[in-house]
Amino acid sequence: MENLTPMMKQYMNIKNQYKDCILFFRLGDFYEMFFDDALTASKELEITLTQRDCGGEEKAPMCGVPHHVVDSYIGKLVERGYKVAICEQVEDPTLAKGLVERDVIRVVTPGTITDLTILDEKSNNFLVSVYLDNMGIGLCYVDNSTGEMYTTQYLGKEIDSYNFVIDELGKIFPSEIICNKAFSLNERAMKIIKNRINPYINIYEDSSINNDDWEKVILDHFKVDILDKLDIKDKLFSILATGKLIDYLYLTQKNSLDHINHLSYYHPNNYMILDISTRTNLEIHETIMSRDKKGALIWLLDKTSTAMGGRLLKKWLEQPLINSVEIKKRQKVVDYFVNNLMAMDDIKGLLKRIYDIERLSSKISYGNCNGRDLISLKNSIEVLPELRKSLQQSHCKELVEISLEIDSLEDVYNLINKSICDNPPISVKEGGLIKEGYDSELDALRKGSLGGKEWLAALELEERNKTNIKNLKIGFNKKTGYYFEVTKSNLPLVPDYFIRKQTLTNAERYYTEKLKEMEIKILGAEERVLDLEYTLFQDIRDRVKEETERIQRTSKVISKIDVLNSFSQVAYKNNYVKPDLNNKGIIHIEEGRHPVVENTIESNLFIPNDTYLDIKDNMVQIITGPNMAGKSTYMRQVAIITLLTQIGSFVPAKKANIGIVDRIFTRIGASDNLSQGESTFMVEMNEVSNIIKSATPNSLIILDEVGRGTSTYDGLSIAWAVVEHIVKNIKAKTLFATHYHELTELEEKFSEIKNLTILVEEKGDDIVFLRKIVEGSTNRSYGIEVAKLAGINKAIIDRANEILSSIEGNHQLSINNSSNTHHNKQLNMMDYKKDYYLDRIINIDISSLTPIEAMNTLYNLIEDA
Ligand code: ADP
Repeated sequence: MENLTPMMKQYMNIKNQYKDCILFFRLGDFYEMFFDDALTASKELEITLTQRDCGGEEKAPMCGVPHHVVDSYIGKLVERGYKVAICEQVEDPTLAKGLVERDVIRVVTPGTITDLTILDEKSNNFLVSVYLDNMGIGLCYVDNSTGEMYTTQYLGKEIDSYNFVIDELGKIFPSEIICNKAFSLNERAMKIIKNRINPYINIYEDSSINNDDWEKVILDHFKVDILDKLDIKDKLFSILATGKLIDYLYLTQKNSLDHINHLSYYHPNNYMILDISTRTNLEIHETIMSRDKKGALIWLLDKTSTAMGGRLLKKWLEQPLINSVEIKKRQKVVDYFVNNLMAMDDIKGLLKRIYDIERLSSKISYGNCNGRDLISLKNSIEVLPELRKSLQQSHCKELVEISLEIDSLEDVYNLINKSICDNPPISVKEGGLIKEGYDSELDALRKGSLGGKEWLAALELEERNKTNIKNLKIGFNKKTGYYFEVTKSNLPLVPDYFIRKQTLTNAERYYTEKLKEMEIKILGAEERVLDLEYTLFQDIRDRVKEETERIQRTSKVISKIDVLNSFSQVAYKNNYVKPDLNNKGIIHIEEGRHPVVENTIESNLFIPNDTYLDIKDNMVQIITGPNMAGKSTYMRQVAIITLLTQIGSFVPAKKANIGIVDRIFTRIGASDNLSQGESTFMVEMNEVSNIIKSATPNSLIILDEVGRGTSTYDGLSIAWAVVEHIVKNIKAKTLFATHYHELTELEEKFSEIKNLTILVEEKGDDIVFLRKIVEGSTNRSYGIEVAKLAGINKAIIDRANEILSSIEGNHQLSINNSSNTHHNKQLNMMDYKKDYYLDRIINIDISSLTPIEAMNTLYNLIEDA
């Protein structure tokens, strides 16, 4: 450090304060990076790595980017999960005595970016703060680009706190997390977060937490005197998480955060809860296999016209309602549009003209907007009166109510309309953005500089006549100012009062005393024009900024109308119906369809199916049928129809009556979990355990082939016990698809259980899937027939048939089953038990057992039986 040059010392001092960031260090027209930062950035940004002498023995690796294109480079690094600290020269280099003072003016992080070119317009970009200790957990999250901030907390055991937070994170899907050290110590939770969500993670020491400090940070930010006004009084965990979040925002943004002006406290239990696996399994945001939006539920549902609507739709899908009054309100609007197609299209047309005013208003509030942003805002506001009128003229009470919430923001419109040019340039410092007539001083100055230009034209003519140089002209460039240009051939005609300024290949440039005087006047006036335009622009921007809350409120209303309009279009196009709601726990669907599958297979080929579930005799459906028959599609369809109902959408069915559910659980497949590094079976059991712990009689449970991840007997036993437990203790509506035909015996033991199967037609050695679900069960897997359909070659298929016959023959002998054809062979639970106990007895190591252990083993066996 001692040997370093003064500038490198300055660099090191700043870098030490921003160790977790890539430091962009401003040097003249470039931002330079050094040492490890340079190695990383040169690789990620594909820019040349050079070296710089820094006073030490070795040269420092270095790379840099020009200042005028820095945003795109920063964007790239942040998108790839780095944090970037921007260090500027904070004094004018021409005035600096010695080393120019430098400081970090902003830290750009994945969870705080505001650059609209990087952000996905139809997704929020959330930064989450989590605080955990052994009493509970607090959570707070913010979208810095829209200004929304939410918080919640959970009090309870640590393990439950983790489950709570993982479900919430699955919903929020943050790009960055700030958490205390204690939280980060749970390996399983961190693994799930990294593998499933992959956010940037900042961990802070628990010792840095101070309740009083955080409370003050919150009060100061929201400009309130007591926490009651923010709904978080006595919510210690929320306070800790929120305080830390606000503190982090100020530390990184170093800017006004006026656009974050509201904190919403929410109870997750006020919405339907979907755990992280269920969101994945129901393919709400992306498909499981290709992780693609195409083919996911949102791909089908999103017909929104504005970016704000797109984001709200996502939010509604993430937290379906459980309050039937709220659901019905949404349904009524959809119903109105579906029956008034003209109104549906009109409103859509108007919405299309509205920009993302939510993010625009944050940009304005942030102070980094330009003239074009204000014009986009103005053009959007222009639509509002018309939109309000259309809604008011509708015969839908709910829409009329919504229309009253629209603030037509006329004052903001008028301000921008009279002040900002219709086609302003991107830059706010180079003039040309304030309209004539807005400010008299600006108009006078402009006239002055314009007058100067007329005078220049007159001077040009005068000198041309005087000198007889026909092509004499006055030119200008930023470096040399105004000049007379004389081509080589005319040089002999140049008079002696022309003073040489510059020599070019084909011409010479001159000035005269008169021209010089005028130049000072004109340039002075022009500079003043630019300065004044910028000052006026800032003033207009600040005045619009004062209306941020109103703009935000209106943008919320617009997004609501947009989502409901989108529901209507989807309902109309796909022939959905309005589901009725009940509070008797009944799910009754007539001719239900899977909304995505019906859209991805050839038209009219989807076979609808009925569903009837209740909390008495139709609580659990055990569904058997071969692979590919459509079990999974059927079960997901029931879950998705329920989900769609609770977000207020219509549903793909002929008729539906849905009892509101508090949670949907799914345990489907395992492929998506393998990357977590846990065994398939472990993941499966973890999820089942979570279901057993959290499900209530109001939940809907979907279980697909539970137990498959272990040996047949273990798997069957677990599946059997899980179903028994659900029927006896949880009493939740459950769909259970299985290959264990033995489970169909449960129908006889419990009146709540019904067997269903999917029809398959046998045609010689082949099968045809009929996709129709009927009461009853099948004990055939048709595995070999499905393999044949999948294209496995004939030799293997024939051999498999041979092996199957021989195994079935042997098995029949060994278990001495009375049934004699393999088609209707039914194993009963006791046969498995026999094998199971035999296994356990054989595995007892008698030689190492003490007499008392022998007694205990025997006792356990009897107890178990
Ligand atoms: P399983 O879970 O029984 O193995 P799936 O539910 O995965 O079967 O269905 C396999 C395929 O069958 C689906 O991808 C879909 O293309 C088709 N399918 C499923 N249900 C239907 C249906 N009701 N109508 C038409 N095609 C269907």
